[in-house]
Amino acid sequence: MPFHHLPRRSLGFFPTPIVELPRLSQVLDGPRILMKRDDQTGLALGGNKTRKLEFLIAEALHQHCDCVLTAGASQSNHCRQTAAAAAMVGLDCHLVLGGTPPDRANGNLLLDELLGAQIHWTGTNRKGEQLSAIASQLQAQGRHPYVIPYGGSNALGAVGFVAAMAELQQQLQAMSVSVDAIVFASSSGGTQAGLTVGKSLLAIDVELIGIRIDKAEDQQLSYQDQLAELATTTAKLLQSDRQFHSADFRVETAYLGAGYGRVGDLERSAINLLAQSEGILVDPVYSGRAMGGLLDLIRKGQFNPQQTVLFWHTGGQPALFAPQFSLQETS
Ligand SMILES: *Cc1c(COP(=O)(O)O)cnc(C)c1O
Repeated sequence: MPFHHLPRRSLGFFPTPIVELPRLSQVLDGPRILMKRDDQTGLALGGNKTRKLEFLIAEALHQHCDCVLTAGASQSNHCRQTAAAAAMVGLDCHLVLGGTPPDRANGNLLLDELLGAQIHWTGTNRKGEQLSAIASQLQAQGRHPYVIPYGGSNALGAVGFVAAMAELQQQLQAMSVSVDAIVFASSSGGTQAGLTVGKSLLAIDVELIGIRIDKAEDQQLSYQDQLAELATTTAKLLQSDRQFHSADFRVETAYLGAGYGRVGDLERSAINLLAQSEGILVDPVYSGRAMGGLLDLIRKGQFNPQQTVLFWHTGGQPALFAPQFSLQETS
């Protein structure tokens, strides 16, 4: 495998299971639907960031850092999994979170505190704008922080999803199943870039469809351009000179609703349908929105009943317990 020369620290339970969703297919009168259960990676309630952290945490240990520092929104799943990974290997964890401290922590934030993370609140900056300033403060105090970018989405983190593609390929071969498309939530880009590099290096014939969760605020570079850049640097890290271009990335932007973390009918009905047809929980911010996108694509006839679609469940369920993402309809 192309990533075996990189240090990797085991943090979760892999391979994650693949399950079939026959009742959902039936309700939709749609394609065969499989689900890759990365909500079950096992690291403090799981999620897709565990895959990136196996490579990032190994590098932090390799560099003899004494703490990790990362950033996200106040209900960040990435921050919660980073806090758990740090605790597991005996490193301190500093989290740079957007917003202001609430009276009472809930959801992922409650778990961040439980996992012993030290939290730095940064108001409207929820994407790590203050990471380097806080890293400098820690260095001035004699600490050696390992800085993990927003979402863990640098080349080393994305390698986790190259490895994920290899894992999936083995599972599908063992099941004698081929998949026409993979649908997943796409936000900071490491998941989509890594899957795309994996697909390319492993020569897997499948369409990757990212459902955009968050608008790109960096106007200079489109999201697809950012993905291309990240994929190219990820391939380079794996000693491949393959170049990626924006046209290599299919990103659906029709499901952003009122914006990041704003729960609407799309997410609510997807969460309810999955819970009641299959007993599976998806989250209000990421996997619920991505599932809402998949349901819409199926209803629009994007896939025929002879095809097989795999939904990559990236986790996020702790946010179900955050009242800010109320699933109750408000008028
Ligand atoms: C971070 C996250 C994603 C998106 O992954 P990216 O690599 O940031 O694009 C999707 N779902 C959940 C639950 C996440 O926490």
